[in-house]
This record gives sequence, structure tokens and C-alpha cells, in this order.
Amino acid sequence: MKTADGILYFDNAATTYPKPESVIRAVTYCMRESGGNPGRGSHTMALRAAEEIYACREEAASFFGASEAEQVIFTMNTTHALNLALKSVIRPGDHVLIGSMEHNAVLRPVSALASLGTVSYSVFSARGTDAQILSGIRAKIRSNTRVMITAHVPNIANTALPIDKIGSLCRQRGITLIVDGAQSAGHLPIDVGRMNIDMLCVPGHKGLYGVQGCGMIVCGSEAITHGRTLIEGGSGVHSLEAGMPDELPERYEAGTLPTPAIAGLSAGIRFVKQQGIASLHRRECDLWRRLYTDLSAMPHVRLYDSTPGSVLLFNIDGISPAEVSEKLNQRGICVRSGYHCAPMAHKTLGSIDNGGVRVSFGAFHTERDVCRLRDEIWNIARQ
Ligand code: PLP
Repeated sequence: MKTADGILYFDNAATTYPKPESVIRAVTYCMRESGGNPGRGSHTMALRAAEEIYACREEAASFFGASEAEQVIFTMNTTHALNLALKSVIRPGDHVLIGSMEHNAVLRPVSALASLGTVSYSVFSARGTDAQILSGIRAKIRSNTRVMITAHVPNIANTALPIDKIGSLCRQRGITLIVDGAQSAGHLPIDVGRMNIDMLCVPGHKGLYGVQGCGMIVCGSEAITHGRTLIEGGSGVHSLEAGMPDELPERYEAGTLPTPAIAGLSAGIRFVKQQGIASLHRRECDLWRRLYTDLSAMPHVRLYDSTPGSVLLFNIDGISPAEVSEKLNQRGICVRSGYHCAPMAHKTLGSIDNGGVRVSFGAFHTERDVCRLRDEIWNIARQ
């Protein structure tokens, strides 16, 4: 899928582009017709905005298997959701488990708490068979392990953690499971109830095809119910009280929500449902296989992970990832280079020296797009 001036976009893991027409229509319709402030007043326009938001809560709750719409807490993005989920439940003295492929959105909040001396943390290996990963996790559990926070799928490889099995283990051991669904929401089926996920943190703007400006925590349990708040302020309810309300989701949603982005997210979830997660995933894997096979045959091109999916990391010997990405950019192709905010994942994959070039697919790519990308990579590699 190209822009009007022919730019080919392969950075969907950062944010999906283009957005479906239905999403653009939903955002503009909301701005035109439901422009009040949700939960702030009882006039028609405020109520319309509140209805947009409630509709998205219902859509998201049903999509991710939450029992009620109130189990969906809106945030600004995944990073905000992960920070809120972690900091709401963590207590001094707790031990936290994270995986070896985490994004900085997990590593940095955990490490910030650890540097205050509040918590300690250990890293389990997120690579290997399910049995190896689970036994690695078991070996790291301590008597004070209270939280696991980990990516379902990392952002530079396609290997998914066996979250359902990890969920059962955490439930048995009384560990709160927070899942970073930034790269799996909209790509793989997720059911917070069936998978025993306490809090699923997801973006609206990636695989759910909404616009930038909102994310969510989808709660699969009561873990966050009376937790600590990250920010406090107006919620539109219990205004005479100085403290934040106890109820979800208001307890964690201080301030005005981004109603147009939330209206777009409803349409994005409907788009993913109409396309079907399985069929979206199959298409991404087909495009991935096409590119992987062709790049494997090119001398000087190095690949890191052989699991098909929506992202493909590569390097060209003797040229820095930034240079490759700049050369592709000059040829009208957008990819991301560097460390992708994921130093742990690069260490695990063996690409920590320079990072890599990441291609990431979306719902609108065609095989022709992939052939054009492949040809340009070849032109750069053979120079
Ligand atoms: N976690 C992972 C695995 C990601 O790939 C990203 C972003 O790419 C994030 C978290 C942060 O997401 P957001 O930009 O929505 O905060």
C-alpha cells in the first residue's frame, strides 16, 4: 500500500499505516457529531461522547475476553498501560519476573523501581520450547515473586510466548501476570479469561488499526481493583471526594479521554474482526515467507529469526542499519533501523553490536510491495 506520492510503508510494528477508511470515518464522525467531553456533564453532546467510549469498552472487552466493559481502562498508549499496571500492584519488597526479549516499555519501569531499591527483578529466557521456557520461569520464581510482566510477542522477532501456560503457572503460584500485547493484539487471538492474564496492555494504534493517542489495560481479574493510581484528577464521578473513586475504570482514568481516538479504536477492532485475526496473520506470514526466502538467497544479508510473522529483522554486512534504512528511504521505502527500544531482544538474538533493519507488515501490503522492497534491498546489498 503506497501513499499518494508513492511511498511504501513497512513500519507497521511502530504504528500501522494506512488506517482503514472505516477508522478515518469513525474519527471524523466523532469529531463532527460527538464532540462533547465524556463524563463531564449530562447534556446531549457529553452523553454522545460517553456513548462512543462505552461502545469501545464493550467492543474491546468482548474482543479480548474480559467479563465486562468496565474491565477496560483507557490509557495513552501501551507504555502508559504497562506503567500503570505494574505500579498499581507492586509493593516494596516484591520480586518481579521479566523475559529476555522485553521492550524498554517493560525493562525501564521495572529497572526504575529496582534502582529505588523498591523491588528486585530477574530475567527468564523467552526463547526455546514451551517446556524450556516454563522450566526456566519455575527456576526463577522466589518466595516473594509477586508480578510477572512480559511481552507476548517481541518487536524484532515473531516468537510468541506460551501465555496460556504461563498464565496457569502464575495463577497457581499467586503471581500477577501483566502481558505486553503491543505486538500481538490484533495479530494473535488473546482471551484474558482463558489465558489467566491479569492485565493485558495494548496499543490502539498498531495491530488494532486505531489512531495514535490511546491504549488500554484489559483486566482479566480483580488484580488492579484497589491498586495505586499513577495520576489523580477529575473523573466525572464522586466529585466531592478528595480521593480517586474506587470503581473501575474511573479510578485510573483521571482527566479527559481522547474520544476521537477511542471512536477510531472501536472501528479498528471491528475491522480486525471483519478481516479475521487468522486470515490477517496468515497473510502476514505469507509475505514474511516470501521476503525471508528471497533474502536468505542474497549473499551478505544476515537474518536472525526463522519464525514467520509480522516482523523481519535483517542486516547487510558492511553497511550500518541506519545507512540501509536511509538508502531505502531515498528509494521511497520506510523501514526502521537501530535498536527498536529493545536492547534485551537484540542481545538475545545476537544483533546487539549494531541493531538491525526491521521490516514490518500490515493488512494492506501486497506481494508486489514485498517484491519492490526485496529488489531495493538487493540493489543496496550488491553495491
Ligand atoms: N512493547 C512492545 C513490544 C513494543 O513493540 C512497543 C512499541 O513498539 C511498546 C511496548 C510501546 O508501545 P507504545 O508506543 O504504544 O507505547
